Amino acid sequence: MNQFLSRRSFILIPTMSILKFIFKPKKVFASSSPSSENYNLSKKEWKNKLSPESYYILREEGTERAFSSPLNNEKRKGVFYCVGCSQALFTSETKFDSGTGWPSFWDPIKGSVETKVDFKLIVPRTEYHCSRCGGHQGHVFNDGPLPTGKRYCNNGLALKFIAE
Ligand SMILES: [Zn+2]
Repeated sequence: MNQFLSRRSFILIPTMSILKFIFKPKKVFASSSPSSENYNLSKKEWKNKLSPESYYILREEGTERAFSSPLNNEKRKGVFYCVGCSQALFTSETKFDSGTGWPSFWDPIKGSVETKVDFKLIVPRTEYHCSRCGGHQGHVFNDGPLPTGKRYCNNGLALKFIAE
């Protein structure tokens, strides 16, 4: 029996580690690590700071329902800030109507977001998050308009808009 168990573990353990790597790359790449110490908050501190809906998106990489954000139709001139740390992420100049139901932009403000690949829908997608607090914002796709050809598909609940 002991011999059987140890043989089994011998096979299982390496197999599990490989599977873990394949199916849970999120933990491996785990990136939502904040670059600024000020935003290196515990789960509890983030929960106190954010609404439950924004917490779910920023800290748990959730996605809001399509067409649910009033920012989807926001057409005024202004700046879109991270709801977690107030860093400016996008300006209204780069916003466009993608028809997807989420606020969409073709370019972030330089240095304001960082990307990583996630596999939540099995197919790899490029996630992006605020470079200051690490809060998840959305996903970036290669079907956007010129000049970048990128579509930054953002959760409205992760942003706050201030009109000019
Ligand atoms: Zn932020």
